[in-house]
Amino acid sequence: MLKDLSQKPLISILVLIFSTVIVLSTPPEDPIKCSNSQNTTCTITNSYGMFPDRTICQASQVFYPTSEQELVSMVASASREKIKVKVATRYSHSVPKLVCPEDSNGILISTKYLNKVVKIDVEEKTITLESGVTLKQIINEASKNGLALPYTPYWYGLTIGGMIGTGAHGSTLSGKGSAVHDYVVEIRIVRPSDSDDGYAKVEILNEQNNEDFNAAKVSLGVLGVISQVTLKLEPIFKRSITYVAKSDSDLGDQVVSFGHEHEFADISWYPSQHKAMYRVDDRVPINTSGNGLYDFIPFRPTPSIALAAIRITEDLDEFTGNVDGKCRVAKLTTNILFKSAYGLTNNGIIFTGYPVIGFHNRLQSSGSCLDSHQDAKITTCAWDSRIKGEFFQQSTFRVSLSKVKNFIEDIQKLVQLVPKGLCGIEQYNGILMRYVTASSAYLGNQEDALDFDITYYRSKDPMAPRLYEDILEEIEQIGIFKYGGLPHWGKNRNVAFEGVFKKYKDIEKFLKVKEKYDSQGLFSSTWTDQVLGIKEGVTILKNGCALEGLCICSQDSHCNPSKGYFCRPGKIYKDARVCSRV
Ligand SMILES: Cc1cc2nc3c(=O)[nH]c(=O)nc-3n(C[C@H](O)[C@H](O)[C@H](O)COP(=O)(O)OP(=O)(O)OC[C@H]3O[C@@H](n4cnc5c(N)ncnc54)[C@H](O)[C@@H]3O)c2cc1C
Repeated sequence: MLKDLSQKPLISILVLIFSTVIVLSTPPEDPIKCSNSQNTTCTITNSYGMFPDRTICQASQVFYPTSEQELVSMVASASREKIKVKVATRYSHSVPKLVCPEDSNGILISTKYLNKVVKIDVEEKTITLESGVTLKQIINEASKNGLALPYTPYWYGLTIGGMIGTGAHGSTLSGKGSAVHDYVVEIRIVRPSDSDDGYAKVEILNEQNNEDFNAAKVSLGVLGVISQVTLKLEPIFKRSITYVAKSDSDLGDQVVSFGHEHEFADISWYPSQHKAMYRVDDRVPINTSGNGLYDFIPFRPTPSIALAAIRITEDLDEFTGNVDGKCRVAKLTTNILFKSAYGLTNNGIIFTGYPVIGFHNRLQSSGSCLDSHQDAKITTCAWDSRIKGEFFQQSTFRVSLSKVKNFIEDIQKLVQLVPKGLCGIEQYNGILMRYVTASSAYLGNQEDALDFDITYYRSKDPMAPRLYEDILEEIEQIGIFKYGGLPHWGKNRNVAFEGVFKKYKDIEKFLKVKEKYDSQGLFSSTWTDQVLGIKEGVTILKNGCALEGLCICSQDSHCNPSKGYFCRPGKIYKDARVCSRV
């Protein structure tokens, strides 16, 4: 039985990897659905088709502006009528309910058609974008003009409005820092106002109005609608990338110096395999030969039949408690990804060996499952909710560089106690560790830190515990509470946001700007009020809530006693409360 289960993914992963390079994929579904062509009575979800609490959000109407002028009139009429508003994007990537209007009376303003590059100034090295422009467009337009945005997220479907909405980042300790918002030189934002201003006002923010600018650089969408963003670029350059596999025995000692040694460093960590993959990634002279391309394998179009086979195996392994099967799949996945250089090629076609050298724009970000024609869902992005594919949760938080060694060692202690406890996350390519930097944005990073991105199985049944549920819950609580980790605003389960506002030294300054820009709170919702500390109740208490990361368990019913899971202290962090199999 075990053998059968572990062979299925072998076949399907191979199919997945070798067939995805030649096919085009069905593009992701629109996250907004309306009941008629007037775009009224609508729903919105995220790109995974599921918010943390599994609800679907509603809106009375969706508007699709194509210019700043139209934006102004939409915000003015919402402000005059005192209607709640949220800004939505083409794909709606953020996991938490940032995009949800307060209730079904609220409206959505979508930036889907605010998708034009307004201006590129080659002399000044700046680019001005409408807020729905994607990272892919930014990269392409900049490179056509010999320019580059140096540090970006690894997925190019994100919009500029969404990236600065949640503080999206790449990985570096260099330059102005790792986050896109640290390269913003001007923001045009349309906000509600009083009748003297015609109920809406365009604010132009830059270093001259520092306080407002620092608030708008990461705003969670609560200050108004960002109309345009101007970014500072630099001349295009080349990079050289080599992945080096090492034992993780000295990982805690290595991480800080590794981040300082290599400009684009990151590390993928596979704790159960005691292995870490160091990405040695640096700038090289522009005349170095090489035309490498990064088309990250998990972001490629993937055959839905392979995705279904993998998911069925994962469901079965979870259901039958087949830990060894999960560990085998984890190893296999890691090996295949490593052998195929994670999707790097030396020339856009094949991988012939390290280093892979190429222009920054071809290496910095990918997402080929987005670039597609309809193919009747034969291939899709792996997490497309219309097919039986990946369905997962994500805990993503950053731990200060001064504490990161201790955090890594705590995880290693847990692995010593429960050696197979983290195989599940290695099926999702382990823990991605990226370097992030302190920012002047009020809701940006507070200090230089290492970001831990952990992806793991989520059952379709909210009451079904995950294998080694307790280990992941403990790691999440150690990172967030013992070491004061800061959650990514656009990822995570509710527990990660408990008391988060207290971790921002300038939260009061942010709230002051919010009050000035939107005193009626039209762009706010219960969720944004909760994470900003205006209202109580980030966590939701109900049966099974801890299994979904909606709460930290305080009683057994928050786990699932009928399946043998009870609320217990952590194994090494005694303040943790986790759902353990007893
Ligand atoms: C596959 C994938 C890969 C990812 N990779 C990375 C990564 O490498 N690094 C990283 O840091 N993050 C990453 N993320 C997370 C991502 O950066 C955030 O979720 C980001 O906010 C999503 O951008 P979006 O354009 O989809 O915006 P949405 O998720 O739709 O919106 C995010 C927030 O911004 C607000 N907003 C959007 N546009 C405007 C506007 N014009 N005016 C005012 N408010 C606005 C929205 O209301 C919402 O509050 C990834 C997510 C996915 C799904």
